[in-house]
Amino acid sequence: MLETCHLQVALSRQATGSAAAWNAHAAVGDACHRILALLVASHALEADGWQTALEDAWGGQARAMTEQALSHGIATPPERWPGVELTRARLRVVARRVRDLLHDAGPGAEALTELSLRSADGLLGGRIDLVVAGPRRHAVVDYKTGATVDPLSGRIREDYEAQLEIYAYLEAERSGSWPSEALLLPFNGPPVSITVDSSACGERAKTARALLAQYNRIAPGPQPASPTPGGCAICAYAVACDAFWAAADASWAPQTVAVEGRLAQVTPSELGTINMRILVKRGSGQLGACLIRAVRPQEHPGARSAAIGNRVRATGLRAEPDRGSYALPAWGHLAVLADTPPPTALVTA
Ligand code: SF4
Repeated sequence: MLETCHLQVALSRQATGSAAAWNAHAAVGDACHRILALLVASHALEADGWQTALEDAWGGQARAMTEQALSHGIATPPERWPGVELTRARLRVVARRVRDLLHDAGPGAEALTELSLRSADGLLGGRIDLVVAGPRRHAVVDYKTGATVDPLSGRIREDYEAQLEIYAYLEAERSGSWPSEALLLPFNGPPVSITVDSSACGERAKTARALLAQYNRIAPGPQPASPTPGGCAICAYAVACDAFWAAADASWAPQTVAVEGRLAQVTPSELGTINMRILVKRGSGQLGACLIRAVRPQEHPGARSAAIGNRVRATGLRAEPDRGSYALPAWGHLAVLADTPPPTALVTA
């Protein structure tokens, strides 16, 4: 992340340890990670009845998510959250791939889950979802519930490639031998792997240390922002980043689509989603009136309290050319800003 934007790193450090807003989509992703870790650590994934063990683990996580949701005022059970059954089906596919990997690694293979590693000098660190070290395969693995490939280039996302190279470097230090492969297991597509080149991984670690030194020279002072369409497209802080909003214009679309403006209309649907018409003042999306359609409050809780006249920002939008509208995916962000005029400032249709 340091290679992309130092401000992004500073913001992520501030967020660590703070009470982050609960988000149903993130809760499902965390549950999937926990289930895979549990099945690997207990060796249940290697046994014949692994599908039953997976369903049992899902049931336990679903009960935990139900309690979390209730504590945040959401009474809808997880099985009725949008996209959950699809994610559950994809979890079965990923679990089978992990099972195959463990089998292919050969007899006596070591499988370590959620492995926290730090480099010998203490400067680099990471938590690897899975390390498999066997006579036939030695792999570092990261599970991903979002997009792993850059939609424009078709290549693995640059930040994920850097992450895998650092993981391979850390695993080589831990085990004394370089992993033969580093791969992402996405929930929405086939595995994505990179070639583990020891010199490239070493270079990546060297660059990371240099960037860290540069970062630490300024910390705890304000870090410079580096807004770019590619970097900001995957940044969770874009919705609140002034540098982003000052830089993003129409030329950033379709890589990054974001709008800021006043809410002119808020229309709940019978399906529980919310349509929002915004009078757009700036951003990379369509200026003037634009419609963000079918916003799911389970994924974007701010939508519940949004009212006509509020100034709002939305990032991670996807154009719907056939409808002339935008969709706000689960990984996008919606913020209702504080300086809202009285609701009478705009007239609803
Ligand atoms: S939105 Fe862009 S400029 Fe702002 S912190 Fe994120 S990556 Fe940096």
